[in-house]
Amino acid sequence: MKNIAELAIIVPCFNEEEVLRSSIKTLSSELKKLVKNKTIKETSKIVLVNDGSTDSTWQIIEKAHQKDSRIKGISLSRNFGHQEALLAGLYNTEADIYITIDADLQDDVSVLSQMVENYYKGYDIVYGVRNKRDTDSYFKRTSALFFYKLMKWLGVELVSNHADFRLLSRRAVAAMSEFKEKNLFLRAIVPLVGFKSCNVYYNRKKREAGTTKYPFKKMLLFALRGISSFSAVPLHLITLFGILISFLSFLLMLWTVYGYFNGSTITGWASLMSVITFFSGITILFMGIIGEYIASIFVEVKNRPVYIIDQRLD
Ligand code: UDP
Ligand code: MG
Repeated sequence: MKNIAELAIIVPCFNEEEVLRSSIKTLSSELKKLVKNKTIKETSKIVLVNDGSTDSTWQIIEKAHQKDSRIKGISLSRNFGHQEALLAGLYNTEADIYITIDADLQDDVSVLSQMVENYYKGYDIVYGVRNKRDTDSYFKRTSALFFYKLMKWLGVELVSNHADFRLLSRRAVAAMSEFKEKNLFLRAIVPLVGFKSCNVYYNRKKREAGTTKYPFKKMLLFALRGISSFSAVPLHLITLFGILISFLSFLLMLWTVYGYFNGSTITGWASLMSVITFFSGITILFMGIIGEYIASIFVEVKNRPVYIIDQRLD
């Protein structure tokens, strides 16, 4: 049995004024319960990371900190993004174990104790996995399913129906910090860290207030980031497709030459146009895929900071 551990709950917050007060209440009563049961140390804390909110999110965090010193705050200098805010919280907080959870508490806080128990059983990583997706829109459900299938096919290891609700031990966070990439897609990085891991299941609730901070465009860009930073399969496919097309165009050339000697070369405008338009489309698509990878390299090469901290409340 390990010594009783200090827990830090990391919560990224971007314009969450509608839900934050009630989320803080729920989280701190959960924390108190765990402390009372002697599951975690008294010095355990909640770290709210303000990701450049333009509403009163930071003021709410400051007030909560004044009332209860177990509630800490980190404010980033601007909006960096969900994944970046998570890292800012993880890498700037001292604790034995970390649990990351979204500010809207769609993920069930009642499994926190189960996660911590699994840590004591010897797991360094505990993934929060959703049972059902009935609280999602039809579109989000099917697109998520498609994405998991696609990623699997592309050879990227992901835990299905797991987002960023997870427990990480201190050494797992330390190992994760060795991954220096700037294109952050944490749910694919965490499995690469290794160590013993397990799943904890829960039902995901509807967002109680406020709106999603992941509109369609942001979601699509996030998926592209996941693909282009973890799988080179699309590039290999382009090469294979290129080989196939070269072979087919060689046959086409033979056929054209044959047509020329048969005197039937004037007809065929329609087929020619079809071939041109089809391959123009394919060419632009493939240039786009290559562009995605170049964009990825571009971001890595610049080596910019992933987040910048403006203020802290410890
Ligand atoms: N978030 C963030 N920065 C952003 C976008 C989102 O810190 O640029 C936070 C947000 O406050 C929330 C979490 O990331 O705590 C997940 O966002 P949301 O609940 O809107 O996503 P959804 O559940 O709709 O996928
Ligand atoms: Mg949410």
